[in-house]
This record gives sequence, C-alpha cells and structure tokens, in this order.
Amino acid sequence: MRLLLVEDDPDLSRQMKAILEGDGYAVDVSMDGEDGHFLGETESYDTIVLDLGLPIMDGVSVLTKWRGAGISTPVLILTARDGWSEKVAGLDAGADDYVTKPFKIEELLARVRALIRRAAGQASPELTCGKVTLNTNSSKVTVDGMPIRLTAQEYKLLSYMMHHPEKIISRTELTEHIYDQDFDRDSNTIEVFVTRVRKKLGVAIINTIRGLGYQLVDPEEQKTQ
Ligand code: CA
Repeated sequence: MRLLLVEDDPDLSRQMKAILEGDGYAVDVSMDGEDGHFLGETESYDTIVLDLGLPIMDGVSVLTKWRGAGISTPVLILTARDGWSEKVAGLDAGADDYVTKPFKIEELLARVRALIRRAAGQASPELTCGKVTLNTNSSKVTVDGMPIRLTAQEYKLLSYMMHHPEKIISRTELTEHIYDQDFDRDSNTIEVFVTRVRKKLGVAIINTIRGLGYQLVDPEEQKTQ
C-alpha cells in the first residue's frame, strides 16, 4: 500500500514518514499544497494524509481540486485543535476522515488502515483467501494458522492483492502501489516477488493471467466453479 503525506512541518513529516514506513507502507512526502496536489493527481495512492494548513495552496483547496478532477482516493485530513470549522470545511470538500493535532500516531495508523480497508470494500481487518490470512492490524500472515515470514516488499505485495481479491492486477499497478516515488522501479522485480510469495505461502492463491497480470483466487472456490 502506498500513501501520500502532505505535511509542511519538517519534523512532523519526517517522523510520520518513518512510522508509516515502519508499518509497511510506501510513503511519498510533499511539503506544500501545490506539489501535494500534483502528486495526488498524477500518482496512484491508497490513501492520502493531508494537513490543512499548507504553504502555496491550503489543504481544503487541494482537496477541492482533487475531488473536482474525479480523484476518489481516500483522504484523511489533519486539523488544528479547536478547528471545528476547518473540520467541517475539510469533510465538505471531500475528506473521508480527520485527525486533530496533536494526535497519537496509533490513532492515525488505525484510521489509515480503516480507510484503506473501506476503499477496498473490506470490512474486517483480517483478510482471508483460502487458507491464507493477513491481519492488517498486526501485519501477520498465516497459512492454515501457521505464521509465515515475509519481507517488507513481499508483505506489501500480498497485502495489496489481499485487499483486492479476484481483481486482475497488472504488474504496473502492483509496482505503483508497493514502491514510493523515489524507488528505482522495475516491474520485472514484481515477478520475482510473486514467485517468492507463492513459495513461502505454499498454496496456490496467486494466479498468473497471461498478458494481464495476477489474480488472487481461493483455490477451493476455483474448483467448484
Ligand atoms: Ca501545517
């Protein structure tokens, strides 16, 4: 999963980026409204964390422009304490949720997880496909109840696929959602990751759709079709 963080406070943005990355997200950071607006409109994100008080273009204007352009990415706004009118303006401009500054990072992480789940149409934090279970809260993956150890990139790949079961996902789409902007992206490495994840899981839930990409399918359901 890939996030955009638009926050102009350098200390806060550095700290948040580190924590979000530690929680398994690829994170792009933008320090002003104009750059943030551009990234949000041109790149693929699973959720955007948007501060409202930003230089060059304020957060509500950024959000209004995104929504006007049909960008439906979930947006969590960061608002000032006592800023109830700011919250109303942000929600009315198309924000999906908000966190009031100062906030506990755990709250932000939980809200981001919930937004990603909801956007993917998943109500439960525990995603299941056949014998494979991925817990989005603990970032733990099990097969038949047995824990599986994945690297950060392998986890990102599986997590994206588990959030979008049965969807045919191209290599490009996977690349866009598991690497941040600065990463030297090579869609060939996706194949390597898929092979490794398949091997570690030991169950055939990732199908290759020739020429199109990959699809997560429960092998049991596939048999009965
Ligand atoms: Ca600010």
